[in-house]
Amino acid sequence: MTTSSDTADLVIPDLMVIGSGIAGLAAAQAAMSAGMSVMVIDKGRRIGGRVSTRRAHGFTFNHGAQFMTARSPEFVSLSTAAIQNHALAAWHVANRDALCGTPTMRDFPVYMQRGLDVRQGIEITDIGREHDHIILTDKDGQTHMARHLIVSAPAPQSQRLLANVAPNLSALACSASYAPCWTGMYGFSDAPPPHDPAPVGDDAGPVGFALWEADRPGAPAANHALTVQAAPGWSQQHLKDDAGDVADALLAAWQEASGQTIGTPVLKAAHRWRYARVVTPASDDAAVTSSCGRIAVAGDWLGGARIEHAFLSGQRAVAALTTAPN
Ligand SMILES: Cc1cc2nc3c(=O)[nH]c(=O)nc-3n(C[C@H](O)[C@H](O)[C@H](O)COP(=O)(O)OP(=O)(O)OC[C@H]3O[C@@H](n4cnc5c(N)ncnc54)[C@H](O)[C@@H]3O)c2cc1C
Repeated sequence: MTTSSDTADLVIPDLMVIGSGIAGLAAAQAAMSAGMSVMVIDKGRRIGGRVSTRRAHGFTFNHGAQFMTARSPEFVSLSTAAIQNHALAAWHVANRDALCGTPTMRDFPVYMQRGLDVRQGIEITDIGREHDHIILTDKDGQTHMARHLIVSAPAPQSQRLLANVAPNLSALACSASYAPCWTGMYGFSDAPPPHDPAPVGDDAGPVGFALWEADRPGAPAANHALTVQAAPGWSQQHLKDDAGDVADALLAAWQEASGQTIGTPVLKAAHRWRYARVVTPASDDAAVTSSCGRIAVAGDWLGGARIEHAFLSGQRAVAALTTAPN
C-alpha cells in the first residue's frame, strides 16, 4: 500500500483524481496524454474499483463486474490494445460478444494504470479551495493539493464530498441512483462435476449471474471457485441481511437454478455492493464542471450502468476541464 507523504505533496500536480476505478483511470490517462501531471488517489487496497478480483485461501473470485462490451471507437481502441497485451480476451457470454479481463477482471484496470502515479489506501474526507488550488484532506488528516480535481467516486459518495465546494456537481450526483448486488463466493477442494459452462441466472433472480471461475477464457482450471451474484431485486430485499445467511441462501438458490448438486465448500463468503449497477444515470446535458472550472466529476453514473460508460465519462471530464475558463 502506498500512502501520500508530506514530501510528495510538495509537488503539486495539475490534476488530482479521486478514484482508481475505470472512470478515474480513463480520466488520468486522458489528462496525461494532454500533457498534465496527474496523481490518482483511492481509498481501496487495490486498483480497479468495481472491476474487482478477490483472492482468498488459494481461490480467485471475480466478484464485481463480470465482463464488458466495447462499442464506442475510443473504448474499442483501448480494448484492442488491451487484447494485444493479453489483459483482455474475447468471450461470448450471456448471448453477446463481450470481453473479459485475463487472467482476472482486475488485469484490465491494471493495464489501464500503465505510466500513472496511483496511490491506494487514501480516503479523502474533505475538499476545499484556496485561490487557484484545490485542497484535499484525507482520513488521517493529511492534506493534498492540486490545480484541478476530478471526483470519480460513485454518485452518493461524490454527492457528499462535493456538497460544499461544488454544489452544482453535488446536486447532479444526487439525481443518479443504483441497485445493490450481493455476491456469494465459494471454494471447493474438488473440481466441479461436468456441467454447461454458460453462466446461470437472470434478473428475475434470486440468482442474477453465476459461473465457475475456471469457465472464463484464460482462467486456470485448478481454481475450483464458484461466484454467484444475486439479481438486483433479491439484493435489495436482503440488503441488510447477515453475510453468512446470504452466502447460504445464494448457494442453495444456485443449486436449484443450475440443477447442479455439489458438496460443502471449504470457503464461503459474501460481499455486498451497495452501489453496484446504475439504475438512473444523471442527465446527459448537465455540465460536469464546477462554477470555478477547476473541479469535474466522472463515473458510470454520468452515462449508464457499464464499464464503457465509466471510461467515456473519464474522458469527458478531462475534455470539460481543459476547455473550462478558470
Ligand atoms: C456486482 C457487479 C457486477 C457488474 N457487472 C458488470 C458487467 O458485467 N459489465 C459491466 O460493464 N459493468 C458491470 N458492473 C458495473 C461496473 O463495474 C461499473 O460501471 C464500473 O466499474 C464503474 O467504474 P467507476 O470508475 O465509475 O466507479 P468505481 O469502480 O466504483 O470506482 C470509484 C473508486 O472511487 C474510490 N473512492 C470512493 N470514495 C473515495 C474517497 N472518498 N476517497 C478515495 N477514493 C474513493 C473507490 O474506492 C473506487 O475505487 C458491475 C458492477 C458490480 C458491482
